[in-house]
Amino acid sequence: PAKAVIVGSGIAGIASSIRLASKGYQVEVFEANSYPGGKLSEIQLQAYRFDAGPSLFTLPEQVEELFLLAGKDPKEYFEYQKLDVACHYFWEDGKKVKAWSDLDRFAEEVETRLGESGAHVRQALRRSAYIYDHLAPLFMHSSLHKLGTWTGPQALKSYLRMGKLGIFSTMNKANEELFSSPKMVQLFNRYATYNGSDPYQTPATLNIIPHLEFNIGAFFPKKGMHDITLSLFKLAQSMGVKFHFNSPVEEILVENGKSTGIRVNQQKIPADLVVNNMDMVNAYKTILKKQKQPKKLLEQPKSSSALIFYWGIKKVFPQLDLHNILFSEDYKREFEHIFKLGSIYEDPTVYINITSVYKPDDAPPGCMNWFTMINVPNNQGQDWDQLIADARKSIIQKINRILKTDLEPLIEVEEILEPRTIELKTSSANGALYGNSSNNRFAAFLRHANYSSEIKNLYFCGGSVHPGGGIPLSLLSAKIMSEMIPTADSKQ
Ligand code: FAD
Repeated sequence: PAKAVIVGSGIAGIASSIRLASKGYQVEVFEANSYPGGKLSEIQLQAYRFDAGPSLFTLPEQVEELFLLAGKDPKEYFEYQKLDVACHYFWEDGKKVKAWSDLDRFAEEVETRLGESGAHVRQALRRSAYIYDHLAPLFMHSSLHKLGTWTGPQALKSYLRMGKLGIFSTMNKANEELFSSPKMVQLFNRYATYNGSDPYQTPATLNIIPHLEFNIGAFFPKKGMHDITLSLFKLAQSMGVKFHFNSPVEEILVENGKSTGIRVNQQKIPADLVVNNMDMVNAYKTILKKQKQPKKLLEQPKSSSALIFYWGIKKVFPQLDLHNILFSEDYKREFEHIFKLGSIYEDPTVYINITSVYKPDDAPPGCMNWFTMINVPNNQGQDWDQLIADARKSIIQKINRILKTDLEPLIEVEEILEPRTIELKTSSANGALYGNSSNNRFAAFLRHANYSSEIKNLYFCGGSVHPGGGIPLSLLSAKIMSEMIPTADSKQ
């Protein structure tokens, strides 16, 4: 059969391998690391297990679809549950809000706790659903680089509603117009961070994101986020996909305008088509460096990065749930630091993800596994050692103030992930979490297409190309990409 090689076993690389195997290709995946999953991996620190990167799971049907494609019942291989509470929010003045997935309950909660009209919450989520219904088919499920996408009825409907879809406003402005409580504005502004953007710059169109969490739902895989990687990795293997670990690809080979395979370990591996799942910017700098560079696309500003402390905590905090946010007192200043000053604000918003709440074997009895994260700028060569040392202090002080505790003596084990190590482990340009940022209204059009317009038989998937970063969009990139590829028998 025709052969496809894939560079990288990030979640989109694995999804692509499944999709191409189901089209009849003989598929081989080459991965630089010793493990699959890229950003979606796990770490073990003594008796504590942590999901290393993503912690929020939305649009599970994107994972299930891959099992269905292989003729398998997803429920037998990958279990997950819907969360009753998407997130617990805490503020310095002692106010707390639970974001119930049940809309009536959430509306009641914000009325009693923040004095915000429940009608505004309903309006915000209706707005979010409206944007999703109009834009998802176009921006999430189609290639933006094929003419047909722009001449179809869906596109025409959207042209007529550009203003209502928030293209000319910012997320923060739209939220300020809707909510009376600054805390609700802050809560809804936080959704910009779901793709590493700045709510004060990103178009209000990004108010599409709460639709995923509230109207469709937030989920947790029963065996942890890493099970998304593991279950799909096993599925790919069961379909005959061959994985090669510790195998950094050195070059994508191109002859007469056609990709003919890759070079790994000084050896040529011929293929009928090549799929690149490596971060697009770093791919053009390394394995595609001899090829024509898409300069404008390469120069686009990157999303934010993250600083994470994986902490084994010798105590159970009953007030904490799976997802917890301890909000900054000055959100605007925090984003100015991330996106304008390239630094870290002294009062950052702290996110604590604790999988042991749902999966007790992730921590010893009487303990919790805290994935403690703040958003930080991507790597521009800052003095990270100093920034991390200062941020560690501010984070612990904030947790102490809000949770009324003394955290330092409770930290039993610690590991740190930061922009430099994110780039080192996953090749992500500048350690950005989500490829390009979405801080301007043209961002969606300035992501690399899922194919090369210069080189035949070369395709792209993953969080750094269209439609963007995050697990659901990375999985959709694999889908859009594979839909462009003919079945293996017609390729021969
Ligand atoms: P990546 O995970 O980027 O993997 C690329 C792979 O390619 C790596 O394994 C790398 O080793 C390999 N590779 C690179 N170069 C080569 C080469 N030359 N040869 C061979 N292999 C190579 N998303 C969510 O949906 N929800 C979240 O809550 C969330 N939180 C996040 C938190 C953090 C800290 C991080 C880092 C990311 C988060 N994301 C989240 C984003 C999400 O993880 C990514 O968008 C997604 O996993 C990207 O997948 P990908 O397929 O692009 O590949």
